[in-house]
Amino acid sequence: MKITLLPSSFGADARQHLTSYLVNGSVAIDAGSLGLYQTPAEQAAVRHVFVSHTHLDHWATLPVFLINVFDMGGAPVTLHASEIVLESLRQDVFNGRVWPKFLEMTHEGRRFVNVNTIAAGQTVQVEGLRITLVAVDHVVPTLGFILEDNAAAVVIPSDTAATTEIWQRADLTPNLKAVFLEATLPNNLAGLADVTKHLTPAGFVKEMQKVSRPVTFFAVHLSARAKDQVAAELLAHRLPNLKIADFGKAYEF
Ligand SMILES: [Zn+2]
Ligand SMILES: [Zn+2]
Repeated sequence: MKITLLPSSFGADARQHLTSYLVNGSVAIDAGSLGLYQTPAEQAAVRHVFVSHTHLDHWATLPVFLINVFDMGGAPVTLHASEIVLESLRQDVFNGRVWPKFLEMTHEGRRFVNVNTIAAGQTVQVEGLRITLVAVDHVVPTLGFILEDNAAAVVIPSDTAATTEIWQRADLTPNLKAVFLEATLPNNLAGLADVTKHLTPAGFVKEMQKVSRPVTFFAVHLSARAKDQVAAELLAHRLPNLKIADFGKAYEF
């Protein structure tokens, strides 16, 4: 399984403003910067997009992506999201005012996107992957993802505060290799992290202890303003299985 945390900034000092992962080139987990990735032809290799929650940093360029790939890859792209996310995308984004009503629209008989409503507890099979959806603990309803193929499993919890179920399930998942976990705010902003239901480096390390399997934890979603401080606080724990995820790098598991 090949996983890339897509870049979302310009210039040499890379920061993460938006969240999207590419899995094996054909599945996207979130669409923060997906519509800015390479060329429309390369974007069209993405056949399935999963959106974890309604926050803008996780779907910001989905409208651009859908324009780019319309009619490029045969069948339309499938958008997988919970009822609450789909309702927000219909009312707030694809509403005929901010952007065309792509979730319903057809052009010359062809849909812009197929929509699949997903819910916690479900497992979806796409592109040779089994993707299990687990509710995590964020300020809005949010789905985390357990991705499995025949060789490896990877957990992407998305945005979350301290949580339980996804770690219990991760521990029961054979071939678990990696977790891409958020570490948004530095330790001195723990109060803000509590209110916004994000993790600090101290909280991140506590979550690591909830998984007994030997896996690598990649820190993601570091606040663009405080990424050096967050990274330093994480690395101060000197845990060999804790790494800061690189942008644009294809991690193979
Ligand atoms: Zn969020
Ligand atoms: Zn976020």
